[in-house]
Amino acid sequence: MTSHDNPLLAPSELPYGLPPFDRIADEHYLPAFEAGIAEHAREVRAIATNAEPPTFENTIVALERAGRLLGRVSSVFFNLAGSNTNETLQAVQAEIAPRLAAHSDAIHLDPELFARIEELYERRDSLGLDAEQAWLLRRYHLDFQRAGAGLPEESQTRLRALNEALSTLSTRFQDNLLGDTNDLAVVVSTRDELAGLSDDAIAAAAEAATARGEDGKYLIKLGLPTAQPALASLHDRGLRERVFRASTSRGNRGNEYDNAGVLARIATLRAERAALLGHPHHAAYVIEDQTAKTPDAALSLLQRLAPVAVANAQADAAELQEEIRASGEDFTLQPWDWAYYAERVRRRRYDLDDAELRPYFELERVLVDGVFYAASRLYGLTFTERHDLPKYHPDVRVFEVTDADGSPLGLFLGDYYTRDSKRGGAWMNTFVDQSRLLGERPVVVNNLNIAKPPAGEPTLLTYDEVTTAFHEFGHALHGLLSDVEYPTFSGTSVPRDFVEFPSQVNEMWALWPEVLTNYARHHRTGEPLPARLVERLEESRQYGEGFATTEYLAAALLDLSWHLIGADSAIGDVQRFEADALEKAGVAVETVPPRYRSTYFAHIFSTGYAAGYYSYIWSEVLDADSVEWFRENGGLRRENGDHYRRELLARGGSVDAMEAFRAFRGRDPEIEPLLKRRGLTGA
Ligand SMILES: [Zn+2]
Repeated sequence: MTSHDNPLLAPSELPYGLPPFDRIADEHYLPAFEAGIAEHAREVRAIATNAEPPTFENTIVALERAGRLLGRVSSVFFNLAGSNTNETLQAVQAEIAPRLAAHSDAIHLDPELFARIEELYERRDSLGLDAEQAWLLRRYHLDFQRAGAGLPEESQTRLRALNEALSTLSTRFQDNLLGDTNDLAVVVSTRDELAGLSDDAIAAAAEAATARGEDGKYLIKLGLPTAQPALASLHDRGLRERVFRASTSRGNRGNEYDNAGVLARIATLRAERAALLGHPHHAAYVIEDQTAKTPDAALSLLQRLAPVAVANAQADAAELQEEIRASGEDFTLQPWDWAYYAERVRRRRYDLDDAELRPYFELERVLVDGVFYAASRLYGLTFTERHDLPKYHPDVRVFEVTDADGSPLGLFLGDYYTRDSKRGGAWMNTFVDQSRLLGERPVVVNNLNIAKPPAGEPTLLTYDEVTTAFHEFGHALHGLLSDVEYPTFSGTSVPRDFVEFPSQVNEMWALWPEVLTNYARHHRTGEPLPARLVERLEESRQYGEGFATTEYLAAALLDLSWHLIGADSAIGDVQRFEADALEKAGVAVETVPPRYRSTYFAHIFSTGYAAGYYSYIWSEVLDADSVEWFRENGGLRRENGDHYRRELLARGGSVDAMEAFRAFRGRDPEIEPLLKRRGLTGA
């Protein structure tokens, strides 16, 4: 196939290397992957067998330049496999994932190549490298070592088999979860049962049912976490229970989508691989390369916070039970009641409810007058929508981003609506990574899962969704403002327990007065969000932290439990393992189930957060401390943005992460701001 027949085979001619989505067809991926793998393998063999003695240029830089075709097809494919998949793409992924794993092993386990890297690494102090180059050489050496270079051949053979098996299993976990999530969407026969939901949520549920061929009925679709948004407002207790049970039974029904066996196998094989690589368990292997360094460091933070969070949650539970009694009901609080009664307490105490807020949070305004506005004030960026460029789905928005001096910076794609072909949750990804070496500017995308309103209606967000939009855009800024030489270090290529920090910092601008008044305006009248509601929103922020922190810590501790097992552990019953792990960690609160149960914990079994879910709160220490810095220094000012951009966002992974933090903050992080924010000062 030539590039004439298959657009993936040639570099894109569109601005910023945006993939030519309008010309890419599903059948192009597999041949492009095959050509990309073959080309990359040839390039790497040429580097490994170069007759010249190894130099930084002919080995490390050559590796950075290699594999462009494979990089191009992978980035398009894996983006769309997450946000706009279909059975063909799922089949391609199932086919290609183990082959990619094998290809990566072929490179990392190539003895001639490793010998060259090792030789350079030995001579690193006499190579005349600058700081970024030295850091890159260290990175390569470490990556090869961690991938098993230097192990005896027998172990390497087993390693290859394990990696292939694990990539296949992760793909299966993801496919099962998507299948079961769609399958378990709750069908509701009558409008009466939906009492409590807003009119547009009901209209969206009616449209969703129609789209599934259930005309005249209503469909409540499931989001990724355990807690489903509808639970806060549905009056019908029976329906709440149905929704909750649907959510928590995902991947655990003994049907074709069952994930229990899949995840147990993943955990066991990871433990075996860690042992081969000289670690007691997968957690030690993963965290060694993080800023936390050891599982104990991560665990001790979680364990320090857990008892206070659980005590807060239990106090909240008692209050909710009282609320149930006061409303004349006589039943014991169950997990499907929590959000509903919490919302009532919140409404009464702070005189605040989501339905009252949402008209002020219209997507277009949130995006342009909120998210973009904050970035323009802080970094001097300008956003111009491009209607002339192809998209992979009609709902995608494409914006060109220019710097303060008018120079082009990159493209930002916003893909905000939920659909059956998209996985749950919210995330940022890249289509093109910034690097000076390859002369490439970034193309980044944000994905959210906001329910699409009926045609002609505005998209009104909850405050949580507003926060998520700011959060994901924080990741996008990390990618867009990247200014590094080598692609390996681009943007968000930082340790996993560091990467959530800039995105969490960006959440601070959602409620920042100058930003909030700029975007939070009534979608019909244009009136600003009343000062009374702003005050209440601020006051109410800590309410619910007991629940949020507990469900999060439970998931983070569950993740570590799955990855602290040794290679010889046999996992019997997955549900039992989970219950025991939560019990042992002191976070088994019946009314506050973990944010994800094992069988739908996609972060750790399919999307790369294994032994890393602790990262969110670990990064939040840095986040809360940085928010303090912005406050101390006058908040939303260009000087502040420029300092943060220069020392932190622009550096990507090109320096030690904690060094970048210290360069920005001027000292080591302190934990007090986080404890205060989450109401954990009793710790
Ligand atoms: Zn994030």
